[in-house]
Amino acid sequence: MSLALRRTKILATLGPATDAPGVLEGILRAGVDVVRLNFSHGTPEQHAERVRLIRETAAAVGREVGILADLQGPKIRIEKFAAGKVALKAGQQFDLIARADAPAGDETQVGVSYLGLVNDVVPGDTLLLDDGLVTLEVQAIEGERIRTRVLTDGALSNRKGLNKLGGGLSLGALTDEDRTHIKVAADLDVDFLAVSFCRTAADIEEARRLAHEAGGSPWLVAKIERAEAIENLIEIIEASDVVMVARGDLGVEIGDAELPGLQKTIIRNAVERNRIVITATQMLQSMVDNPIPTRAEVLDVANAVIDGTDTVMLSAETAAGQYPVRAVEAMVRICLGAERQFKRDTDFEAAPRNLERADQAIAMAAMFLAEHINVRAIVALTESGGTARFLSRFRSTAPVYAMTHEAPARRRMAMMRDVFPIAFESRGMRIREAARAAVGQLHQAGLLEVGDRLVFTNGDHMGLLGATNTLRLLEVDENGLATTLGDL
Ligand code: ATP
Ligand code: MG
Ligand code: MG
Repeated sequence: MSLALRRTKILATLGPATDAPGVLEGILRAGVDVVRLNFSHGTPEQHAERVRLIRETAAAVGREVGILADLQGPKIRIEKFAAGKVALKAGQQFDLIARADAPAGDETQVGVSYLGLVNDVVPGDTLLLDDGLVTLEVQAIEGERIRTRVLTDGALSNRKGLNKLGGGLSLGALTDEDRTHIKVAADLDVDFLAVSFCRTAADIEEARRLAHEAGGSPWLVAKIERAEAIENLIEIIEASDVVMVARGDLGVEIGDAELPGLQKTIIRNAVERNRIVITATQMLQSMVDNPIPTRAEVLDVANAVIDGTDTVMLSAETAAGQYPVRAVEAMVRICLGAERQFKRDTDFEAAPRNLERADQAIAMAAMFLAEHINVRAIVALTESGGTARFLSRFRSTAPVYAMTHEAPARRRMAMMRDVFPIAFESRGMRIREAARAAVGQLHQAGLLEVGDRLVFTNGDHMGLLGATNTLRLLEVDENGLATTLGDL
């Protein structure tokens, strides 16, 4: 039965489409593990309401669902249109007005709130909107008005992002608005905080400090989406808990042809350094308007899984699309198919250089045994989720059932490939008792069968009496409880 478990996790962006009645429940039941609040869109009140609904619905559905707050960062955006959206034709004139109180846009012009734009562009520059779906060529700058010619037909709607081809537009990583949003996110007690357009490790460290000052303790997500972040990739990975391959802006800054190689490099480096990794942007883009994905999209999601990503992300597909539930169902189906093609990494030679603590050594030994004696599962008691994260970096054949009484740890573990967080109370128990209770619970839940072998560890689990850093080989006995495994 563990064969049918989906190992790759799904992150879905919330928005107007998921606010419709029943949709949130639909996407959770379909398999969403973590939801994303995009602080670029909507008000703090809307985010708070979505958080309330998510918690309520997750409890009703009986799932552990993590919450990620994504800071806007210094992204430059167009303002709104009177009609919400416009259709642009290649060859036509279209002006950007860099003014705080520009009138609502139409087919001929739209406002941009970043006043400095007029100094950052020169005639001949190419501007890309909405992750490159619409391109404009700058023709002249007249005061606050940037005159451009449309290069490709396309629809443009409210508050789409704007970049310059080759990069060089965006400013420091944390804006004043982001600082306010960090407090909002802390009040909402989110599990993950994403820093957009980070340039250096210091950007991540600052966001972490501000989150702590605001009373939060989220795991920090570094969005890799500018050329500078690629130059500082390793220090950024090490400063963060999770890394996102944010392919939209990254593709614009460094050229789309570089994306496949960079995606592989970022995923490999994150996993090797004990970090979680998300692959994001346009994964099933055509499903915003269509009930089935294109073949190219199927291959894209599958290739991210084969590259070793922990999580795949949906953006407009769930936030603003016509088929949010179907998009999640498509992801589930594609992930399951791709996982059968995934070459598991059982290279224990590479691992020891990452060892920093005793619980990691235990985790590594657990994985080595799991690979060599053919167990059904790894059962890990953890308090912070740290042991589970380390275990999941090995991408083993057996699933990791990570058991803890700590709800925040369970929600963080929702983002880890191969890890299945389970609520479990073991405080005050002795190790033998805890092992029996854990195995009994998994057997009851149908996750283990009589005769199954498993590796049991309690790496960073401090609530047990008598034993931390323990590793046991167990077998499920005829009563559905644990017995010590003797003969291999
Ligand atoms: P980012 O660079 O942070 O990804 P984005 O504008 O690309 O920003 P996504 O979260 O990727 O935003 O979502 C894609 C599109 O879905 C947005 O451009 C917007 O049109 C729509 N959308 C997403 N979230 C919301 C929301 N909360 N309210 C309204 N529209 C939303
Ligand atoms: Mg982006
Ligand atoms: Mg996006």
